[in-house]
Amino acid sequence: MRDFTAKAMAGPRPVVLSGPSGAGKTTLLNKLLKEYDSVFGRSVSHTTRNPRPGEENGKDYHYVTREVMQTGIQKGDFVESAEFSGNMYGTSKAAVQDVQAKNLICVRVVDMQGVRSIKGTDLRPIYVSIQPPSIAVLEKRLRDRKTESEDDLQKRLKAAKVDMEFSKEPGIFDFLIINDNLEDAYGELKQALLEEITKFKEVNVSS
Ligand code: ADP
Ligand code: 5GP
Repeated sequence: MRDFTAKAMAGPRPVVLSGPSGAGKTTLLNKLLKEYDSVFGRSVSHTTRNPRPGEENGKDYHYVTREVMQTGIQKGDFVESAEFSGNMYGTSKAAVQDVQAKNLICVRVVDMQGVRSIKGTDLRPIYVSIQPPSIAVLEKRLRDRKTESEDDLQKRLKAAKVDMEFSKEPGIFDFLIINDNLEDAYGELKQALLEEITKFKEVNVSS
């Protein structure tokens, strides 16, 4: 039986993915985008941090100077922005529109400040927090990734402790996924998004 209630007719909701640096957001999202490339698209954020080896401008982030980013924010080009570990990060309106223009469900990867900003809008996304099994495991993953200086790594660990507490606050996240075993965590992420995937397919098959 088809469900024609207002909730079912509303179409798929966008997704907000958050969690500490090193928790595995990029790894899990890349798996999702590979398996569901015709369903989900990631909005490409802007950042003032330097690209890591292998990262591409326009694909992983739009790498810009602080001046360019501040001018964009003043012009109202960003839906949200934040300062994280000494750098600016933000989601531009254009980045979201790019995904919507491809008729994909937009996934935004944002820090805690981004989550709080989006909570103040009428976007109504699915909020998913990806968390590490422990701070010790997180530290090991960040060290093994070898992408941050010791100073930046310490800043990220400090922010991670706050983020881990934030994720437990009631009413913030719809789903909390502990990324211990990668395949298990990916299975949980797919399960969390199953309703949106189903709605997306219904809308796109019937139209
Ligand atoms: P984030 O995007 O949240 O900063 P990443 O996806 O870059 O995190 O993951 C951080 C590091 O941990 C990467 O080197 C990644 O390969 C590794 N990693 C991610 N998930 C797991 C996991 N379940 N088990 C072991 N290592 C993992
Ligand atoms: P990284 O430098 O590891 O790529 O990202 C650092 C942090 O910035 C992560 O917590 C990530 O979620 C966050 N981040 C990435 N893009 C955005 C964005 O557009 N807005 C906000 N608020 N945070 C972002």
